[in-house]
Amino acid sequence: MSLNRRSFLGTGLALGAALSAPCAIGQARPRVVVLGGGAGGATAARYIAKDSDGAIEVVLIEPGKTYYTCFFSNLYLGGFRDFASIAHDYGTLASRYGINVIHDLAVDIDRAARSVTLASGHALGYDRLIVAPGIDFVDGAVPGWDMTAQNRMPHAWKAGSQTQLLKAQIGAMRAGGVFCMVAPPDPFRCPPGPYERVSMVAHVLKESNPTAKILIVDPKENFSKQALFEDGWARHYPGMIQRIGPDFGGANVEVRPDSMEVVIDGMAETVDVCNVIPAQKAGHIAGVAGLADDSGFCPILPGTMQSRFDENVYVLGDATIAGDMPKSAFSANSQAKVAAMQVRAALTGARAFPAKYSNTCWSLIDSGDGVKVGASYQVGEDRIAKVDGFVSQIGEDAALRKATYEESLGWYAGITADIFG
Ligand SMILES: Cc1cc2nc3c(=O)[nH]c(=O)nc-3n(C[C@H](O)[C@H](O)[C@H](O)COP(=O)(O)OP(=O)(O)OC[C@H]3O[C@@H](n4cnc5c(N)ncnc54)[C@H](O)[C@@H]3O)c2cc1C
Repeated sequence: MSLNRRSFLGTGLALGAALSAPCAIGQARPRVVVLGGGAGGATAARYIAKDSDGAIEVVLIEPGKTYYTCFFSNLYLGGFRDFASIAHDYGTLASRYGINVIHDLAVDIDRAARSVTLASGHALGYDRLIVAPGIDFVDGAVPGWDMTAQNRMPHAWKAGSQTQLLKAQIGAMRAGGVFCMVAPPDPFRCPPGPYERVSMVAHVLKESNPTAKILIVDPKENFSKQALFEDGWARHYPGMIQRIGPDFGGANVEVRPDSMEVVIDGMAETVDVCNVIPAQKAGHIAGVAGLADDSGFCPILPGTMQSRFDENVYVLGDATIAGDMPKSAFSANSQAKVAAMQVRAALTGARAFPAKYSNTCWSLIDSGDGVKVGASYQVGEDRIAKVDGFVSQIGEDAALRKATYEESLGWYAGITADIFG
């Protein structure tokens, strides 16, 4: 077939139209666009592509070519994993599952036109949209800190170079220096995460810098698995860790990155490393698209994960208000499977079963001393509601704690395969 200038231009225009129009006006297969290739988005993309067997076109928008899991990034800080072991790519999603992975950033969503605009300028129509952008930080949450200060005072709450930076800073601490963590207020990504991180930093310092101290400045009255962590810290790291809660000014904190000072209730302390984990909200694009409410997070329908503001949009993971479910990779992965099933039902008539959700969060306190907390959830009247739960107990024997840690290794291998194929 010869291709003349007229037919070439015609083809180009037709392709351009297909890229931006929803199925109803010109596409053979319904298209699902997924924003965010993390624990929630990549799982949803994979399950829709896998289970629809080609009946649905799946497009995944994710700026990063490599995804570093926040989960197990604390174990990297503690020297239990290398950095490569928390890195994952999108090759299998593209090659085995036929997902069109576009490495770009979504900058706008026109929900009326059902179209997503990318930073590159392209517009992409959708029949259903899945929004899973994770978290962003609330501006001004910790006075004195903003993104320009993140090299002096890393957050390391999105994994990658920030995590490597924090590890390097811990390794370079002077003998007897102070590691300070400014912990976030609720709700935030991974409720036990800051306290597992403190455990891992303590583990490293116990070996390399045993006179160093750890200071936690915390705006919360209490925190996840508190009794288990405090018991573990007393057993493994006696005298090393001090936590200042809101009763002693932990909720009134300011930082001065230039002088490495943390001001707690008006008293300035000079520290050597300062890990600032600010208050959080849904990833920026969720707010731009009008999917978040005044809390900064996105309300969803508990049976489907559909946005309460738009039935064609599903929101997953840390960006959501998910009732009793914590913001975790396990939760995001669980929610993604519900949304994937619902999207297939809506677009292909596939059967949708009642939603069920689950979560477990493991934390390592010291070598072979793992603890966990978890629950299953069902659809409540207007929220995802916890039905039963479990938590490790103080005084468990060493073999059980070791088995709990080993269980977490199996979980990591399993969930990353479930997310990335
Ligand atoms: C230190 C730490 C330890 C943790 N440990 C655990 C654990 O042990 N177990 C556990 O279950 N969870 C753990 N978590 C929590 C877990 O990492 C998150 O809950 C999980 O990653 C949330 O998944 P998500 O899909 O909502 O967001 P993410 O996994 O953050 O994915 C969001 C993705 O969206 C992309 N994105 C953002 N904006 C846009 C846009 N505009 N356009 C396109 N893409 C966009 C981002 O690049 C990112 O890849 C931990 C977290 C931390 C910080």
